[in-house]
Amino acid sequence: MLEQARAPCPWHQPVWTALVEQTRHAHAYLFGGPPGIGKRQFAQAFAAFLLCNEPAHGMACGRCRSCLLRQAGSHPDVCTVAPEEEGKAIRVDAVRQLGDFISQTAQQGGRKVVVLYPAEAMNQNAANALLKSLEEPTAETYLLLVSDQPSRLLATIRSRCLVQSLGMPSRSAALEWLGQALPELAVDQREALFVMAGGAPLRAADLAAMDALRMRSEVVDGIKALLKSQAGASQLAERWSKIPLELVADWFHSWTLDLLRLSTGAAETAVNADMDKVLGYMAQRLDGAALMQWQAWLLEHRGMILGKANLNRVLLLESLLLQWKQLVERR
Ligand SMILES: [Zn+2]
Repeated sequence: MLEQARAPCPWHQPVWTALVEQTRHAHAYLFGGPPGIGKRQFAQAFAAFLLCNEPAHGMACGRCRSCLLRQAGSHPDVCTVAPEEEGKAIRVDAVRQLGDFISQTAQQGGRKVVVLYPAEAMNQNAANALLKSLEEPTAETYLLLVSDQPSRLLATIRSRCLVQSLGMPSRSAALEWLGQALPELAVDQREALFVMAGGAPLRAADLAAMDALRMRSEVVDGIKALLKSQAGASQLAERWSKIPLELVADWFHSWTLDLLRLSTGAAETAVNADMDKVLGYMAQRLDGAALMQWQAWLLEHRGMILGKANLNRVLLLESLLLQWKQLVERR
């Protein structure tokens, strides 16, 4: 679906319109912004627009030979560069192949487009190889880079691209989009996904696809049982063996922010509605110093988890749960 998108997400329409109405396009763009908000879809739609033989209404037509080839995934003049596996680096070989692609003549007689994401995943050698392509632009060849963290790119790469920031949708726009993308879910389920995804709708849809709602309720039930001493930390840590650590770390992080807001009186209800009662209970019994210590521990370990450090997941979860419980236990 994503690869074939002809239109950007609705909240990016103003940026899109301004872009496609330009009579001349830059030879390299960098689309930056938070993850999960449709940057890749934007870049793919723009690639489709650039390649289309008869764009209409500011979009690729979807019917011409070029569009049909692209939709079939066999357009010879579009090249997508991404890590071989999600979370891995984009290696120099991939960028060198890109150089070959750029130096060839367009086979369909028109333009050539490269879509590269996430650009921050390029290792040093790959970035240097790309720089060469950027320094020697080829006529009718367009480079579209997509990045969650444009500030992590080489300044020399950024400066050779036209940088276009793509923003988050409003809450209402995001929920409306989720309503169309996930009509089978109830309103409160879509809102729960929206909160879990930090307001990023495409991330929310990914979470739905990986069954995060079910995992979430399992973890929430586990926390309740833990606090009531009906379940032990090690038992839960074993039971959660199929739940990605990244998700658990994200949830505890978000709950901790709720705890801070609730315990300082900055908020009266938790953002995480499914944990509202638990967090309200905990906020009343918290020790401020312990909360600070916990937060530091969580930040450090969340960083290790997101950085794909080699961790013993059962021990880590057990330690996390014990500390969480200790937050509200009198010493
Ligand atoms: Zn077309």
